[in-house]
Amino acid sequence: MSDFAASAPVRLAERLNNVETSAIRELFKLLGKPGIISFAGGFPDAALFDVEGIREAALAALASNPGAALQYGATEGFDPLREQLSAFMASKGAVDVAPTDLIVTTGSQQALDLLGKTLISPGDKVIVEGPTFLATIQCFKLYGAELITVPVDGQGADVEVLQRLIEQHRPKFVYLIPTFGNPSGATMSLQRRRRVLELAVQTATLVVEDDPYGDLYFDAPPPPSLLALSAQVPGSRARLVHCGSLSKVLSPGLRVGWLVAPPALLAKATMCKQFSDAHTSTFAQATAAHYLAAGRMPATLARVRGIYARRADAMVQALQAELGEAVAFEPPRGGLFVWVRLTGAGGTCTDGAELAQRAIEQGVAFVPGAPFFARDPDRATLRLSFATVDEARIREGVRRLAAALRICSI
Ligand code: PMP
Repeated sequence: MSDFAASAPVRLAERLNNVETSAIRELFKLLGKPGIISFAGGFPDAALFDVEGIREAALAALASNPGAALQYGATEGFDPLREQLSAFMASKGAVDVAPTDLIVTTGSQQALDLLGKTLISPGDKVIVEGPTFLATIQCFKLYGAELITVPVDGQGADVEVLQRLIEQHRPKFVYLIPTFGNPSGATMSLQRRRRVLELAVQTATLVVEDDPYGDLYFDAPPPPSLLALSAQVPGSRARLVHCGSLSKVLSPGLRVGWLVAPPALLAKATMCKQFSDAHTSTFAQATAAHYLAAGRMPATLARVRGIYARRADAMVQALQAELGEAVAFEPPRGGLFVWVRLTGAGGTCTDGAELAQRAIEQGVAFVPGAPFFARDPDRATLRLSFATVDEARIREGVRRLAAALRICSI
């Protein structure tokens, strides 16, 4: 045994008692099995990355201003990228976000961490959707948040319940993924979006909009983001935070996200970021800035939207054909996920975790839905990602899922 292994256990920070390693991580260990079709990941398809465009942008970043691309930079972000991101948001309806209204973050994951750091004291209440993004649950819990869940249906978070919860709990903030949610796939209606912004103003509650998927729509654009809509609801911008990301549309490996927040909060988040990573990789930022400036994004988006739309459709059709009454789901209108509920029809299994085990035996993987609930898990749910699997394999994967469900019900 090495000296290290023999030494006394490390006295870890108490905050770590609030979180456990994710159940999903355990499942991912099984994915190495040969021949497995995986609907488990939350990744975009690497085969769809615009490698040529990114290569050109990286070369341009080195050619035009190598010093800036390779030197330390400002914590707020590389100014040409902040300008491009401001223009990118304007192209999607948020026309009045100045470059100085945002900071660049190391993925939107860091924006969430900075929000945890700047806003959450132990015991503070935060309202999140049930279900919501697992890393958000873990991150906010790490800062000691008490999470309260608002239910989500086909129209997004239930705003009537949200109003009651806000009035009852007076949360520090509300965290929503209004467009093509992870894992719900749900998209909040325009009416509900307006209502959320009105509620933010009326109850003086901060609302965080996490929007990494809004660009990945299939047939028609989703309703405007809360950020874009805030221009129509007086006073709401001062209550709104918006997290954006290039991960799902360009490349998660670049680790480029951004945070739009009211000035006082943005200043504190910037201070915390300084202590954390000083700044997001200047090379990645310069590359992203050149990519956006080259005007390649619209074509890239058009291409990936079409491919994901066909995969989503293949999954929806296959689920209907192979599993029929045994599952209930809303076909997604964008994003990467189909959120499925096991109905138990015909005596079939209603436990997502049990089905996940059977499914691995049949050669298909997915993530059971329960871990995505901060409380009161719905164990009959599953998250299926169609993003990285071609249509024929999607059909085969769903056939295997149906076989697993037959075994699970015996
Ligand atoms: N928010 C949501 C809802 C996500 O699904 C993800 C990625 N899975 C992130 C934030 C973080 O993405 P990134 O840090 O790559 O921008």
